[in-house]
Amino acid sequence: MNLRAARRSEDGPALPPWPILVVDDDPQVHSMTEVLLRDFQFKDRGFRAVSAYSAAEARTILECRDDIPVMLLDVVMETDHAGLSLARVIRQDLGNQRLRIILRTGQPGEAPEREVMLAYDINDYRSKTELTAQKLFTALVGALRSWIDLDTIERLNATLEARVLERTRELAEAQAFSGRLVELLPNPLWVKDLAGHYRLYNQAFREFFGIDAEAWVGHSAEEVLGRHLPPEELDSDCRVLDGSSRREEFETTIPDHAGRPRALLVTKAALPADGVVPNGIIGIAADITERKSLERELRRLATMDSLTGAPNRRHFSTLAHQEMERANRYDLPLSVIMLDVDHFKKVNDSWGHAIGDEMLKAVTTAIQGELREVDVLGRMGGEEFALLLPQTGIDGAAQVAERLRSAVAAIRLPLAEGWLHATISLGVTTRLEGEAQFEHLLGRADRAMYEAKQAGRNRVAIEPGR
Ligand code: GH3
Ligand code: MG
Ligand code: MG
Repeated sequence: MNLRAARRSEDGPALPPWPILVVDDDPQVHSMTEVLLRDFQFKDRGFRAVSAYSAAEARTILECRDDIPVMLLDVVMETDHAGLSLARVIRQDLGNQRLRIILRTGQPGEAPEREVMLAYDINDYRSKTELTAQKLFTALVGALRSWIDLDTIERLNATLEARVLERTRELAEAQAFSGRLVELLPNPLWVKDLAGHYRLYNQAFREFFGIDAEAWVGHSAEEVLGRHLPPEELDSDCRVLDGSSRREEFETTIPDHAGRPRALLVTKAALPADGVVPNGIIGIAADITERKSLERELRRLATMDSLTGAPNRRHFSTLAHQEMERANRYDLPLSVIMLDVDHFKKVNDSWGHAIGDEMLKAVTTAIQGELREVDVLGRMGGEEFALLLPQTGIDGAAQVAERLRSAVAAIRLPLAEGWLHATISLGVTTRLEGEAQFEHLLGRADRAMYEAKQAGRNRVAIEPGR
């Protein structure tokens, strides 16, 4: 850059001038320098001298200002080495490494040793006679450029440091947050390492098993659960660790600390979350004991008749179709009995609905007492029942029907005075060769039952007749 190009431009923005610290005990040097500086311009900024007449005065200025980029420093002032001592103070005591120091001496003999130049990071050395406008400008611009570079680096460092600090703080916060979350989670949660040893577990886990924070750490599930180890536990760990499964889920039952069996839904995944190179497993369990028993109860309510406890019509129909399909596929015998309480309306009319209910229960119990495990009794509605007899031919079914008839006839329901009796009429049929429709069997059994009613009740009729 030549001097002309560096001259101040009239329309330049109003940036503050570069402050140049001039340290010299000779007032003439100050006034000369000021005159020269007045004419300089660099990066749209002029120059302005900040004057100090001794090393001590310069130190005072530098102690409270860090915006000065360049210092023009005399060597001999209050002492022979006042300038060099000041350079040492600046670098060592004030810790100012940015300030560019240009030494100016009156006599060439005063040039400092090379080691001193290096030790105090003196950036330039000029003799006073050498400092024409051209040379001073070149020296100052060189010094300013390196000061700007240093300043930029320092600022970047400071920003970077602040960001590292901020990230570190955020990470610590996130860690504390997830730690807290894990601890407060109502579900038992645990982490195992690659060897299958517990690394940590939360409060819900400790409470479930009644253990303290350290008891299971470093131990495997086999060691601590022993015979209560769910069979899926180790298999699921293996599948997660060998990458064949990203997520394992299974239901199991484990006794809690009080020995109560609890139904658990266990979910596992690899750690870290991406699972590319797992270094552990995280598991979480939900206690589904209540839900399970509720489901059982709902299923029971939906499938069983509430008065007799026998399958209701819909459920009986489902079971019957299953049996029919099996019988058809393997060509197995299957028989059906329809039965209905005789003159039941009279029971209600004479003794009341409650006694009628008791009789229906007694009839159900009496029938069930005569059946095998595989037989299915369904309440089809009112006082009408249907019975499935798998792997039973017509003769066997007729015998069962007769047994049922006499079992019901033997019922003695205690009344306030005396006993209440009941009889049933039964219709028996069996699956014909190649017959696949259950409705056909049911229809035949129903017709047979009607015949039994017609024939005088308390009897068995068979369809097709023999
Ligand atoms: P039949 O010998 O021809 O079968 O005569 P029945 O009186 O038994 O037959 P009907 O179909 O005329 O009457 C059945 C009665 O059963 C009528 C109904 O009020 C009664 N009933 C149906 N369901 C229940 C029940 O859950 N509890 C009681 N107590 N009675 C019921
Ligand atoms: Mg009836
Ligand atoms: Mg009826």
